[in-house]
Amino acid sequence: MHVGNYLGAVKNWVRLQHEFESIICIVDYHAITVKYDPAVLRERRREMAVSLLSAGIDPNVASLFVQSQVPEHTELAWIFNTVTPLGELERQTQFKEKAQRQESVTAGLLNYPVLQAADILLYRADKVPVGDDQIQHLELSRVVARRWNSLFGRPTGRLTEDGAEEREQFFVEPEPVLTPTRRIMGLDGQSKMSKSLGNTIGLLEAPEAVWAKLRPAVTDPKRIRKTDPGTPEVCNIYHLHKGFSALPTVEHVAAQCSSAGWGCIDCKKVLAESIEQELVPIRRRAAELAEDPGEVDDALAAGAAHCRVLARETMNEVRERMGF
Ligand code: SF4
Repeated sequence: MHVGNYLGAVKNWVRLQHEFESIICIVDYHAITVKYDPAVLRERRREMAVSLLSAGIDPNVASLFVQSQVPEHTELAWIFNTVTPLGELERQTQFKEKAQRQESVTAGLLNYPVLQAADILLYRADKVPVGDDQIQHLELSRVVARRWNSLFGRPTGRLTEDGAEEREQFFVEPEPVLTPTRRIMGLDGQSKMSKSLGNTIGLLEAPEAVWAKLRPAVTDPKRIRKTDPGTPEVCNIYHLHKGFSALPTVEHVAAQCSSAGWGCIDCKKVLAESIEQELVPIRRRAAELAEDPGEVDDALAAGAAHCRVLARETMNEVRERMGF
């Protein structure tokens, strides 16, 4: 997990887990839609669990589990494949972007959002916290729910406004809960922070490593000399300040930048301090979990056990309505 994931999603989930019954899934079946090494997959799955727990996901409050431990996800994804229009999948922006970067495109990459729809609808979730880049996938989940309901929902005995037979809304059409933090750009200032682009700061990285990455990070490209006033809004360092620094510091950064009151290195030093302050307890918790691996196993096992019960209930109903 990198700080982009943390600020853009996980920090929000930590708050939401106390407001909603929350299900958080480590999506290892999604991870295999690109080339991968099984040993690394195992390692990363573990690291993700440790990062989530260290960042504040509480297994006594939310259900945290690994997707492949609840096989109903793939069963429901297959069922949804049979009702998802191919054109909808081919239009997905993320598919088009990812497909461009690959020599040969697999069906798994195309069907990735169908598995996402299954992840959500399996628990008949009504709200999904997402960034704006996931809105299109969530919309697809709504299409899938609507299509399936219209084909297999039980007739209610009433008529719709246009005179058709009304069907039960077995699957709820999930609504997005937009993440308050805008998406975090990578240190190259070019694209979204992403592990595959190598422009990230890891959540559990040591302070020296964080500074080694922050120091050369791209800032406002028009601020060439220290005496040039900058535009904080176009600078990714400023947006990281918004995620990590207290409001008075963020205001100070904006004022110092736009008046050329300091240089970018001064600004980055303050950011490094703010990041450090936020990450110290997270790193401490990660170290404790490394000492006691059983705690992670127990959390994931309890989450999977709870989710299997929910998933089975949904699938029993789905199978019955579909003639199995
Ligand atoms: S002073 Fe800070 S906010 Fe302004 S351009 Fe430099 S790094 Fe970015």
